[in-house]
Amino acid sequence: MPKLLKLSIAACTVILLSGCSISPDSTNSTPASPEASEEAIVELTQEQITELITSLPEGKTLEALKAHYIAIDEAAKQLEPFEIEYTLGPTADPARVEKVVNQFSEKLKMYQFLGLESLNQDWVLASEKDYQWWVDFRSAQDPSFPVEMWNEEKNELGHCRLRADIFCGAGNTLNGKNYQNNVVGTAFTNRGIDYVSRHEAAHFYQAVFGYGGRCWMAEGQATFFETYLESSSRYRDEIISELRASKTDVAKLSESELLGLLTSDQICQGDSNIAYNLGMLGYEYLYMNFSFLDVHNLQVLSSTEGWDEAVSKVLGIEASELNAALAAYIFAETR
Ligand SMILES: [Zn+2]
Repeated sequence: MPKLLKLSIAACTVILLSGCSISPDSTNSTPASPEASEEAIVELTQEQITELITSLPEGKTLEALKAHYIAIDEAAKQLEPFEIEYTLGPTADPARVEKVVNQFSEKLKMYQFLGLESLNQDWVLASEKDYQWWVDFRSAQDPSFPVEMWNEEKNELGHCRLRADIFCGAGNTLNGKNYQNNVVGTAFTNRGIDYVSRHEAAHFYQAVFGYGGRCWMAEGQATFFETYLESSSRYRDEIISELRASKTDVAKLSESELLGLLTSDQICQGDSNIAYNLGMLGYEYLYMNFSFLDVHNLQVLSSTEGWDEAVSKVLGIEASELNAALAAYIFAETR
């Protein structure tokens, strides 16, 4: 169940030392020797991690913003790998699949600081040749499973064209269960997996805690982390260029028109890329002005109680004030 985190209950605020491990086969985390103990303490203390997730970047610049989130991601590396259980397709290459799963495990770690303990998802990792097996497997789990999401004729899974050298993923929810359907091609070489797993990890976190009360939040957050934490991702400039080129002319709106559409949450209409591109700018503003933990709490609460209520409860300001600040920021960054 989604939960708000207050400092006192920062559930998985961490670490090797606190034994807040996800992996069931991890052994007792007590350091084996004085040297190991010193090493672990040098990594980051619980106080330092609490400080990281409750503080703002050191300055309202994109550089400081990036440095802050790199620091959070780096701090998360000391955590145990995030455990992901999965069913392997009959012709999927276990070694390739393991590499992919390890990437996801790494990218999910930072959300443990926000209380993520497990993924409520049923994963399949198949190869591009496992279509019939996958149909049978999912249909046996739930006869109403929308197996058309893998289109054999078009050779597509979700929006992704299947080939031997790709990784594709498509999630869906059915009768209260979350499914993640992945294809790891039989000749996959990890190309693109860094930013894809970074992006998808944000959605897995959101699946547990909530996608946020605005149309741009889910994709915006995923795009933000992809852009800020993965060098293989699209550059910020490219994202803004794409936003400027939107057929909706969203980047040509006046500031007050922008504010109107943000306030009514109609800003994503007419172009599905707006949620990603404008959403990234929205998250830049949020993460520059509020902590990782505050934005998490905003996201959780706005998913259930609505944006206006969540903004005032979590951030202590009126939604109109935040909407205006977001509009001003997005307006300025897209000129
Ligand atoms: Zn996405």
